[in-house]
Amino acid sequence: MFEIAVGYEFAAGHALRGYKGKCENVHGHNYKLQVIVEGEQLNSIGLLMDFVELRAAIRRLVERLDHRFLNELAPFDQINPSAENLAFYFGEELASKIAEQGLRLQAVTVWESDTTSATYRPLKPRLDPRRGSGPSGATATTEP
Ligand SMILES: [Zn+2]
Repeated sequence: MFEIAVGYEFAAGHALRGYKGKCENVHGHNYKLQVIVEGEQLNSIGLLMDFVELRAAIRRLVERLDHRFLNELAPFDQINPSAENLAFYFGEELASKIAEQGLRLQAVTVWESDTTSATYRPLKPRLDPRRGSGPSGATATTEP
């Protein structure tokens, strides 16, 4: 299994709705973003995915948010612009492009500061419970 990671930075303002504390007030962050892609096969020139291509896909998403007030921009006019929801948004927007290449989005992490971050990892396909190789109960399924 191979992984590649691309980082990106942007600045934006937000206010957390329903939060009781100073984060309900308008404030800004210098966000850092990291996208990790995984896959098993390298291409003919030894790359999992071209960094330039992944960075360009991230840039297209970030440009809409950079130096803006997130609460006014979809989907954050509806869902809170938390670090968790930002990571989910980037992950969901990038997942299909990554899947087109036979690769998988492993994780998206969004840092609001040097010491606080949130990570979104799409659920992996369920393990076959009959194989019994996973941690007991951790990925239990009730499906036959
Ligand atoms: Zn904040």
